[in-house]
Amino acid sequence: QHGSTNDSHRNDDEFINGLLPPGFDQKSCLSRYQLNLYRKPSPYIPSSPLLSKLRRYEALHRRCGPNSPSFRRALAGLTSPTNSTSLPEDCKYAVVLTRDGLGNRILAIISAFFYALMSDRVFLIDRGNALDDLFCEPFLGSSWILPSDFPLRREFGSFRQSFPGSFGNILRNGMLKKTIEDSPASYLYLHLSHDASDYDKLFYCDRQQNLLKKVPWMIMETNNYLVPGIFLGSFFREELNKLFPAKDTVFHHLGRYLFHPTNGVWGLISRSYKPYLARAKEMLGIQIRNFGSESGSFQDQMNQLLACTQKKKLLPDVEQSSPEKSNSTASQTVKVVLVTSLSSEYSETLKEMYWEHGGVDGEVVAVYQPSHEGIQSSNKKMHNRKALAEMYLLSLSDVLVTSDWSTFGYVAQGLAGVKPWMLYKAEDKVFPPLNQWLKYRTRNETGDWPCRRAVSMEPCLHVPPVCDCDEMKRRDGGNELPFVTHCEDASWGLKLV
Ligand code: GDP
Repeated sequence: QHGSTNDSHRNDDEFINGLLPPGFDQKSCLSRYQLNLYRKPSPYIPSSPLLSKLRRYEALHRRCGPNSPSFRRALAGLTSPTNSTSLPEDCKYAVVLTRDGLGNRILAIISAFFYALMSDRVFLIDRGNALDDLFCEPFLGSSWILPSDFPLRREFGSFRQSFPGSFGNILRNGMLKKTIEDSPASYLYLHLSHDASDYDKLFYCDRQQNLLKKVPWMIMETNNYLVPGIFLGSFFREELNKLFPAKDTVFHHLGRYLFHPTNGVWGLISRSYKPYLARAKEMLGIQIRNFGSESGSFQDQMNQLLACTQKKKLLPDVEQSSPEKSNSTASQTVKVVLVTSLSSEYSETLKEMYWEHGGVDGEVVAVYQPSHEGIQSSNKKMHNRKALAEMYLLSLSDVLVTSDWSTFGYVAQGLAGVKPWMLYKAEDKVFPPLNQWLKYRTRNETGDWPCRRAVSMEPCLHVPPVCDCDEMKRRDGGNELPFVTHCEDASWGLKLV
């Protein structure tokens, strides 16, 4: 039955320490209760307040979610706002509009879910084509998908940073209190993507959160991980301390709770896992993201990768003696390296290197790359399936090497529960030209070039609030709380530790 041939992988806890509720039909979503067979048990245990909170959320979602009488009443309030005052309804909603690549979208979804959980809202996704057929429903007896006939859908096209009726723009005009309190708005649009303004980012402030409580429908667009910003306010602080005694486990727990690849994606995962990965005593996952010229040439990136895996002892040095002389019959362990990238060059180079030579300690290195899609095509179904499958395969790694700035890598590390080794983005500002890497390496043996260990497994919020909540003066969110710090790959960004 078990997909793994290695007993140390065996993990019989299909409910992940109580994170997942029982009762779902197993066949319609195989990954939900089977991923545990490929994963080692997580060392991070969700708190019992978090488990109770999730169970209460599931009940709320069933009561207020699509197809419920409450949902229909809430929709009526949206089209004719007077209804909402005559019929006091305790169902409030947070609808998330996602954008960009799959990693960005996953961060958006988890952010909106986190916010909904904390603010007692029901969270719904405008799925669009990019998220079609990737994830199973996470809530028993209901749906997390915004119905296609949602009345505001026509407006979605005009929702952007400059939309006059957005939370940030209303606030800028000094009209937020009036809009919410005097003539209750039935919905508000919050723009929280990479180009969010300082006013949009007052979303993270207590006073605004207090006002937002009164808005029945919040429509939020983002491509970022908003959680560190939400932790900055004191609004949810007391409860957050109980739910997450270890602050750096938010993505890990909520990601494993919420995301369950559909059977189509599960097929890709298990057809990679069984033949190529199951035998690994140890698996190293390498995610190489190429951001064009900012990432340097192929050779630069390859040199950087090899320097990282060798300096940090993630891969063995190669045996230089001729094969006849090397002691290849010594007890051999197999290390499996899973490479994900849009290009096949990195894994081809590694594969050839470890085929031509053994590792110095008699270690055999097997290299596997599931796909090499060439270019990002986020509107194609199979392309997105492969991307999701690869994030999940990476998340089975014991050790990870990821690329700076990449939300694809953030998702894998969070699901895995692993602090990755992060490869610097090739900018001269950050480290010397890559063709001098050898020279640099000997000069600075203790330095953290060409990769360093992430301070936590959490994703980075790339667009943090930079103004204080009262006077719009500069603030540095990375210096306010012991558990919110600057990101290693984006010095202005914020992450939980
Ligand atoms: P980011 O741009 O690195 O932050 O990550 P995103 O996931 O948001 O966007 C990159 C997109 O490019 C992915 O969603 C995939 O569509 C594609 N992509 C990038 N790297 C890989 C990879 O290693 N494997 C696959 N299958 N797709 C990738």
